[in-house]
Amino acid sequence: MDSIFDAGIECMDPDDRWKLQSERLVSLLERLRRSASPYWQAKLQDVPAVHDIDDIALLPFTAKSELRDTYPFGMLAVPLADTVRVHASSGTKGKATVVAYTAADVEVFAEANARCIAGAGGVSSDVMHNAYGYGLFTGGLGLHYGAERLGATVVPASGGNTSLQVRMMADLGANGLLSTPSFGLLLAERAEQEGVLDDIRRTLRFGAFGAEPWSEGFRSKLEAAWGGIDACDIYGLSEVMGPGVAGECRQGKGALHVCEDHFFPEIVDPQTGLPVGPGELGELVITTLTKEALPVLRFRTGDITHFVDRPCSCGRTLRRIARLSGRTDDMLVVRGINVFPSEIEAVVLQDESVSGHYRILLDRRSTMAELVVEVELAGQGLVGARQGVAERLRRALMDRLRVRVLVEVRDPGSIERSETGKAKRVFEITA
Ligand SMILES: [Zn+2]
Repeated sequence: MDSIFDAGIECMDPDDRWKLQSERLVSLLERLRRSASPYWQAKLQDVPAVHDIDDIALLPFTAKSELRDTYPFGMLAVPLADTVRVHASSGTKGKATVVAYTAADVEVFAEANARCIAGAGGVSSDVMHNAYGYGLFTGGLGLHYGAERLGATVVPASGGNTSLQVRMMADLGANGLLSTPSFGLLLAERAEQEGVLDDIRRTLRFGAFGAEPWSEGFRSKLEAAWGGIDACDIYGLSEVMGPGVAGECRQGKGALHVCEDHFFPEIVDPQTGLPVGPGELGELVITTLTKEALPVLRFRTGDITHFVDRPCSCGRTLRRIARLSGRTDDMLVVRGINVFPSEIEAVVLQDESVSGHYRILLDRRSTMAELVVEVELAGQGLVGARQGVAERLRRALMDRLRVRVLVEVRDPGSIERSETGKAKRVFEITA
């Protein structure tokens, strides 16, 4: 039986958790209303009294741009003197965002990461190799404090020095690996070249991998490369805290337990901001219930997921979200239905009769937009099966997307390949 870091909280009765969340939300708002910050005064100006967590929709959303616009410290809810640490993200679209933490925030940050590492299979006697980047990025220190909080022995390897890293993993007997999934795989390849892969395989049992999207296919590769470890996903974002907002447990791979006593999750329609129906895809929105230095109310993460509400066999009652299936920036609206290209890809890549090359055409030339998915057969031998493949995919796509899709099945090799960088797969036709 795996150890649960904080069973009192992680396995809490949901009714008790509702009370805890409600108390925390009410006291957060009281605290913010007392803040002298012009940002918080303006943000809460029109917000009516909130009595419990079910009132959360009365609060305004927070956009990522607000952090950029108030750079560096305009959203601080405490004096800078009361903080003990800052992190910053470079921001893919221009200006950096700076986030700050009080001592209590650092403690929550550590606890949340300790929960996630334990969920992935970590215990206090483990040697934990931490290859997340240390520095302004939240990954390195976030996982470092989490692993220490668990009581493990942390090796603060950071990024780079790959050959030295695999030697350290072998010599120190790493039991757990903390890194991005791509670096985790690179380390396995290097370990093989350096002749230490078998040594590491003897001790390594699990890893917590995050900070970039990775598929189930990648998981299989990563787990196999290290000789059958448990590779678990860990999710977070610096605006909310950093890694540790949610994490997969090794018994329930595919969905991540949210540390919802600290980070309250909602899933909304990216267009309307209204909650989606049970199990429907939408944008993850998070409210920090306990953060002191830099709380966020209903932060629009831009990440697409859905709630997974069947009980998890690990015993934790923390609500789960599915692994991310894309970003709101990629979303298409087809006849009023939100469609995510990643969902189309998931269906196409599941069918062995077609290759991994495909195109999505959104034809908006008539009033009723038409969604066309072009795929190509995986081999010449399948040409006779073209009709059947088209029909099967059409039905699978309808089931998944709940919108009519036209499927065109092309000859092998006929869909244009991208020579450079990321393939462009989505085309909108407007005239
Ligand atoms: Zn679980």
